[in-house]
Amino acid sequence: MRIDVLTLFPDMFAGIMNESIIGRAQQNDILKINPINFRDYSKDKHRKVDDYPYGGGSGMVLMNQPIFDALEDITKDRNNYRVIYLTPKGKTFNQEMAKSLSKETHLIFICGHYEGLDQRIIDTWVTDEISIGDYVLTGGELPAMVIIDSIARLIPGVLNKNESFIDESFFNGLLEYPHYTRPADYKSLTVPEVLLSGNHKMIEKWRIKESIKLTIERRPDLINKLLERNDISYKKKEEFKKIIKEIIIENNT
Ligand code: SAM
Repeated sequence: MRIDVLTLFPDMFAGIMNESIIGRAQQNDILKINPINFRDYSKDKHRKVDDYPYGGGSGMVLMNQPIFDALEDITKDRNNYRVIYLTPKGKTFNQEMAKSLSKETHLIFICGHYEGLDQRIIDTWVTDEISIGDYVLTGGELPAMVIIDSIARLIPGVLNKNESFIDESFFNGLLEYPHYTRPADYKSLTVPEVLLSGNHKMIEKWRIKESIKLTIERRPDLINKLLERNDISYKKKEEFKKIIKEIIIENNT
C-alpha cells in the first residue's frame, strides 16, 4: 500500500515510519509512507500556505493553491485512491473503517492546521472526512498516525503469526478478554484456574464470557451492534445471547 501524507511537519512521521512493526513493513515493501510538505508546492514568494478567512473571525485557513497542486501532482496517472481529510467534523474512526481502508492500494491523508482547509479543497478532492474523537488537536498529524497504524496492522503480511489481529478488541465486535503470563502466582495474585487447565474448550468459553462481561460493563452499545451484525451466524448469536443471560443472572444473585 502507498500512503501519501500532506503535512506541514513531515519530520513528525519519522518515528512511525521507521520503528517497530510499521518500520518492518516498509523495509519489506508492503507499505510505503511518503510524507509530503505541501509548503513546497506554494507559489507564494514567502512560501505562504494560509490566509485570513473570508467573513472575518480569528484563525487562518489553509489555501487552495498549494494543496490543489500537491494533489494534482500525486494523483497524475493514477485513478485508484482515497483522499482522507483529518478533521473533528468527520466521521468518528473505528475498526470497521480501518478494515475498509486497509483494502485500498493508495491512500492520501491531508493534515489540517489552524482553522483547517478551504472548503473547496474538501469539495473537490476529499473522499473521507475522519475524526479520531470528540476533542480538538492542533493538527492532523497525530490523527493521521493513529489511522495509519491501525490500518497498517491489518494489511496481510504486516503482522507475523505471533502478532495476530484476529483475537483483538473490536475484531469480533467485543472488547478483548484479560491476559495473564507467568508466573501463575505473583505476590499471591493468582491466574484464573481455567487458564492453567489445558482444556481448550473451557478456556475458549471463559474468554468469550470475559469478553462479553467487559463489553456489557464498559461498552453496552457494542452488544446491540453485535447482535445486529450480518457477518455473525445465527448459531453464534444464540451462543452470545445464552452467555449474556448467564452473566445477567450471575450479576443479580
Ligand atoms: N476549526 C476546526 C474545527 O473546529 O472543526 C479545528 C481545527 S484544528 C485546530 C486543526 C487541525 O487539526 C484540523 O484541520 C484537523 O486536521 C486536525 N484535528 C484536530 N482535531 C482532530 C480530530 N479530533 N480528529 C482529526 N483531526 C483533527
